[in-house]
Amino acid sequence: MSYEIPELGRPLPKLNADTEPWWAALKRHQLLVQTCSDCEMAIHPPRPMCPNCRSMELSWSPSSGKGSVYSWVIINRAFHPYFMEKIPFAVVLVEMEDGTRLVGSIDCENDQLEDGLPVEVTFDDVDDDFSMLLFRVVR
Ligand SMILES: [Zn+2]
Repeated sequence: MSYEIPELGRPLPKLNADTEPWWAALKRHQLLVQTCSDCEMAIHPPRPMCPNCRSMELSWSPSSGKGSVYSWVIINRAFHPYFMEKIPFAVVLVEMEDGTRLVGSIDCENDQLEDGLPVEVTFDDVDDDFSMLLFRVVR
């Protein structure tokens, strides 16, 4: 018995009022970081209130886009048909220069990943409406 896997597009994030500006910036190939106007803490993921001082006065500022690999996982089992031909692939947690930690893909062989690997952000245009974080190793 054989069966065909239905053609399904990439699963995409669901946006809300807090995250929409961040995703809209990625689509413009710009990385923003939410910043508290009172204590200047960089915040990620975006939220309505500063987790440090509880201020609601938050704004957006450009990120340097630079950081280093803090941790990663290698995905060996596709959790969605879209990823069947992509396994095994890495998902990295990157500590940015501003102190936030971002999750994304990385343009690097899985066996080249190491703690502290310097990276910078690039953008993967996955469709007409979305760009995802794609980190590139800085040599
Ligand atoms: Zn604050």
